[in-house]
Amino acid sequence: MRKKILITGGAGFLGSHLAERLLNEGQEVIVLDNYFTGQKRNIIHLMDNPYFELIRHDITMPYFIEVDEIYNLACPASPIHYQYNAIKTVKTSVMGSINMLGLAKRIKAKILQASTSEVYGDPEIHPQTEDYWGHVNPIGERACYDEGKRAAETLFVNYHRQNNVNIKIMRIFNTYGPRMHPNDGRVVSNFIVQALKGENITIYGDGSQSRSFCFVDDLIEGMIRFMDSRDDFMGPVNIGNPREFTIRKLAELVIEYIGSDSKIIHKPLPTDDPKQRQPDISLAQKELGWEPKVKLEEGLKKTIDYFKTIDLDEIYRIVN
Ligand code: NAD
Ligand code: UDP
Repeated sequence: MRKKILITGGAGFLGSHLAERLLNEGQEVIVLDNYFTGQKRNIIHLMDNPYFELIRHDITMPYFIEVDEIYNLACPASPIHYQYNAIKTVKTSVMGSINMLGLAKRIKAKILQASTSEVYGDPEIHPQTEDYWGHVNPIGERACYDEGKRAAETLFVNYHRQNNVNIKIMRIFNTYGPRMHPNDGRVVSNFIVQALKGENITIYGDGSQSRSFCFVDDLIEGMIRFMDSRDDFMGPVNIGNPREFTIRKLAELVIEYIGSDSKIIHKPLPTDDPKQRQPDISLAQKELGWEPKVKLEEGLKKTIDYFKTIDLDEIYRIVN
C-alpha cells in the first residue's frame, strides 16, 4: 500500500534525494521547507508527480497533517549556514523536533531524526561508536548545531519513553553528491567549485584533519532501511562511509579528476574544527545489513559531473 511520507527539509541536498527515491518506490511524499538552504531547483523535476506536494513552512511553527512516516531533516547542515543565525539553528533543532514529535505522537506516525556525527564533537575515540558520548564545546561556534542536535536526540528518546512514539535516530557522517549547494561551504562542494572555476583551493589549517565521505545514494539507502527496520531498533545508528581521507588528499583528488590548474592555499582552521572523524558502522551492518558501496573516486566524479551542468557564475548567495 502507498505510504504517505512527510520530509522536513525536503528541498535540501539529502531531502531532495530522499523524496525522489521514495516517489520512485511508489510512495506519496509531502515536503515542508522554508528554503533557507534548500532550493526549488532540487525538486522541480518532481513537481509533475501527482503524489508529490511541496509546502513552504518553517518547522519552528507547528504543522498538522496525517502521514504514516516523518523524516525530520530540516536544519542547515554546513558550518557557515548554521552559524549565520545560531539561535535559529537551535530553534530549528529543538522547537522543530518538538513540533514534529508532537505531530508524530498525535497521528501515531513513525519518525526519523537526521542527527549527525557532530554529536561526537572533536572525538577522543576513533573510530566513533554509538556508545561514545562525545566531546562537544557547549559554548563554541559549532555548539548551536551540535548541542541542538544533541537536544533533539534527547527529545526523541523521551517522546519514546513517555509517549511511546516510534522513533529512529540516525547519526549521519559527512555526505556529498549532486545537489549540494554551490555556496554551501562544505569541503567537497567548495573544492569542486573552486577547481572548476580555476580558483585557489582553500584548505583550512594544514589539511591533515580527516573526514570520511559517504556518497548520497548510499546514505539514502541506509536511511530508508533504517526507517523500515523493526520497531525496537531505534538507534542511534551511525550511517557513513568508514574510509577516511585527509582534507589535503581530497583536494589533490579533486584537482586530479577535474584536471584543474588550481593551486592549493591555506586559510586559518575554524575554531573547534574536529581533527578526525570516522564512523564505526558495525551496528548498521548488523541491524540493517547496510554498508556503503560507492568509492570516493566514483562518487566524486558523479558530483563533479553534476557541478559541470550548473552555471557557477549565477549568484547562488544564501547568506546576505
Ligand atoms: P541542506 O542545508 O541542503 O538541507 C536542509 C534543508 O532544511 C534545507 O532545504 C533548508 O531550507 C531546510 N530548513 C532549514 N531550516 C528549516 C526550518 N526551520 N524549517 C523548514 N525547513 C528548514 O542540508 P543537508 O545536507 O540536506 O542535511 C539534511 C539533514 O541531514 C540536516 O538535518 C543535517 O543536519 C543532517 N546531516 C547532514 C549531513 C551531510 O553531510 N549532508 C551530515 C550530518 C547530518
Ligand atoms: N574545509 C577546508 N576548506 C574548505 C571547507 C572546509 O579545508 O573550503 C575543511 C574544514 O575545516 C573541515 C573539513 O574540511 O576540517 C570538513 O568541513 P565541512 O564543513 O565539509 O564539514 P564538517 O567540518 O562539518 O565535517
